[in-house]
Amino acid sequence: MDFMTAEPFRIKMVERVKKTTKAERQQWLKEAGYNAFKIKAENVYIDCLTDSGTSAMSSEQWSALMLGDESYAGSKSFFKLEKSVQDVFGMPYLQPTHQGRAADYIMAKLYAEEGKYAIGNMHFDTFRGNAEILGALAVDYVVDAGKDTASPAQPFKGNIDLGKMQQLIDENGAEQISVVIITITCNNNGGQPVSMQNIREVSELAKQYDIPVVIDAARLAENAYFIKTREEGYQDKSIKEITREMFSYCETATMSSKKDGMVNIGGLFVTRNKDILEKAQQLAIVHEGFITYGGLAGRDLEALAVGLQEGCDEQYLEYRIKQAEYLGDRLLEKGVPIIEPTGGHGVYVDGRRFFPHIPQCEFPSQRLVVALYEEAGVRAVEIGACAFGSKDPETGEDIFPDIETMRIAISRRVYTNSHMDVIANALGEIYKNREQYKGMKLVYEGSVTSLRHFTAGFELL
Ligand SMILES: *Cc1c(COP(=O)(O)O)cnc(C)c1O
Repeated sequence: MDFMTAEPFRIKMVERVKKTTKAERQQWLKEAGYNAFKIKAENVYIDCLTDSGTSAMSSEQWSALMLGDESYAGSKSFFKLEKSVQDVFGMPYLQPTHQGRAADYIMAKLYAEEGKYAIGNMHFDTFRGNAEILGALAVDYVVDAGKDTASPAQPFKGNIDLGKMQQLIDENGAEQISVVIITITCNNNGGQPVSMQNIREVSELAKQYDIPVVIDAARLAENAYFIKTREEGYQDKSIKEITREMFSYCETATMSSKKDGMVNIGGLFVTRNKDILEKAQQLAIVHEGFITYGGLAGRDLEALAVGLQEGCDEQYLEYRIKQAEYLGDRLLEKGVPIIEPTGGHGVYVDGRRFFPHIPQCEFPSQRLVVALYEEAGVRAVEIGACAFGSKDPETGEDIFPDIETMRIAISRRVYTNSHMDVIANALGEIYKNREQYKGMKLVYEGSVTSLRHFTAGFELL
């Protein structure tokens, strides 16, 4: 397979994208209050806002759609999904949901407790929101290397710091910790993977104290591929052998199917605990739909049953991970500072090192998002001072996060490496002229600080 380095698919259907002028894009930016979420998708040339729900489905998935059994109860499509999930997770029970966040909601209801800690590497926003509503204390214990954007030699920057976990147990007593949630891969610090050793050790420590372990598995296949290629002892194992071992260390898993499920909508709640399943089913009936469809159409279940298998295909995964690496390498060649090593689902540019003259209170990564759209019609997203900023509850003063990045998320099977070249060339030019750029001012934010990035309005300084 030496010469076979191109995308492992051919294109059967295309979707036109529009080329636009800089003057048009400047006008649209102004109308959008310089917020990428408010730009119309039809005015975007390459859309890297998110990898969520943006995958291209295969011909097998499209043909499976036609087999969708829309029966309210006992749909044939559910049993196909059940088989596929059991195969990938190695766990017996599932409850489909309409999205990952609905599975998060059910999980939070069953595992988070008021006044008790929920330990994670870095909790995903939707779990954090649910936990906070329930009064649980969500703490992020990713290893220190996970917060350092420039440590290319670290293979597993999504790992949980066992020392911190032990310390919290020692200081508060194990009964004050209601759950440990391992997010694979760790989205918030660059799609960084978690090693099998870390999953095993976290699970062993939790077991000693009877603390349940949950895996947030949106990018389970990407994580498995990193284990296969970076962790001693896994080179000869198949992706599914690795995914099954990962889940052997947890009681329950949640998943946003919009990522490695290769579909445009859907979520999963998977467990080995029958009691937990029954409680999850009750919550699903109230909030999602009957237990065999969980807020999805039969055709969605079909597409997911096939998509989960395709997401675990090693030839696909090799292309997927190498595409992010390709973009990362092109950017590094041009001197653009990124989180290293590149993670699974995109490339994260370090806003502070890119624009060292723009202070964090003037949103350097958001400025970069605006510049990239203005120059090339490429839409990325800020994960920094705006998205993760918070306010001191007493003084109302802004608190800025450790992480200050622009995420370029790569959709699955959608763009070719020529598109990656466009992004790298545009960012290279902006980097050359970086001193010309000034910061931004936040002129509108909604009442909920943790959600302000979706609706914020900015002005250029
Ligand atoms: C996307 C995501 C979710 C939420 O899933 P939705 O399908 O968007 O509701 C939860 N956890 C992680 C790690 C995710 O990436």
